[in-house]
Amino acid sequence: MSIKKNVPTVATSLGKPCPVCGRTSYSLGGTHPQCSFLAADQKLLELYRDADGWAGKAILNIAGSGKFSSDRTIAEYAASIWDAQPCPIP
Ligand SMILES: [Zn+2]
Repeated sequence: MSIKKNVPTVATSLGKPCPVCGRTSYSLGGTHPQCSFLAADQKLLELYRDADGWAGKAILNIAGSGKFSSDRTIAEYAASIWDAQPCPIP
């Protein structure tokens, strides 16, 4: 049994119209990189116009962000490379 995914390949996407601007695209996937950026930016602006929806998405994004990995990285650098000790805040 094989699993076939609908993933564009170089052979199938080159030279076809970009779904955003309609001009011929030679980009992998068929969409010009700048068109992908502009489409995402347009979607962002649409989402931002809905203040309540935007606030909800922002809260979920923050809640799902988890622990910052940079905190652990800095703590490891301080302990193993710099041999620095934490400075208590009075
Ligand atoms: Zn395009």
